[in-house]
Amino acid sequence: MWKQLLKVRDKVLNFCGGVSNLKQLISSCHINSKLKLSALYYALYPASANVLWRETVWECLSFPKHAFVLWLAAHDRLLTQDKLLRRGIININHCKLCSGAVTECRNHLFFDCSFSRDVWNGIMDWIHFKWRSCDWCILLNWYNSRLKGNGLKHKVKRMALAATVYSVWRERNARIFGQNSKSVEHLIRDIFSTVINRRILSI
Ligand SMILES: [Zn+2]
Repeated sequence: MWKQLLKVRDKVLNFCGGVSNLKQLISSCHINSKLKLSALYYALYPASANVLWRETVWECLSFPKHAFVLWLAAHDRLLTQDKLLRRGIININHCKLCSGAVTECRNHLFFDCSFSRDVWNGIMDWIHFKWRSCDWCILLNWYNSRLKGNGLKHKVKRMALAATVYSVWRERNARIFGQNSKSVEHLIRDIFSTVINRRILSI
């Protein structure tokens, strides 16, 4: 923790350009002689520009847990087996959803994997998604550029993406930790009813 504190101190001094500038910045964040931490936070970490996938990920109708997992996937921060292997936490990388001969990474899991591809294709059939791709980057770009706005169809498609990513991630975890596994059809039915119920509740 001490090392981390020293690292942050050096980072802040570097950001401000010296001790006197930092003191000046801190004093500018005082209100009625009290330090306002939120003002100091925003002075040190100004709000970043909106990312392209903001609307796709943070769809207001999606369950927060679905949006959160989709957000982690968009950042490529889900702890997939390729990352665990690099950190030395596991010794072998096998996708648990398909044959096992393929290694697991974000782009394989969503939706290059034969299992998750079948799930996503089933969901695309249901939402009458004429344009099709199971490549993660192409799919996300498509959503970001073509599925914007508050139209109901677009909202349902964004909900479907978040629910599918969440369900595939959950299924992958269930198989890794030895819980009951579900079939493609079972997962599609779960996603379908989740999206429909959520949509009905929001009316
Ligand atoms: Zn796979």
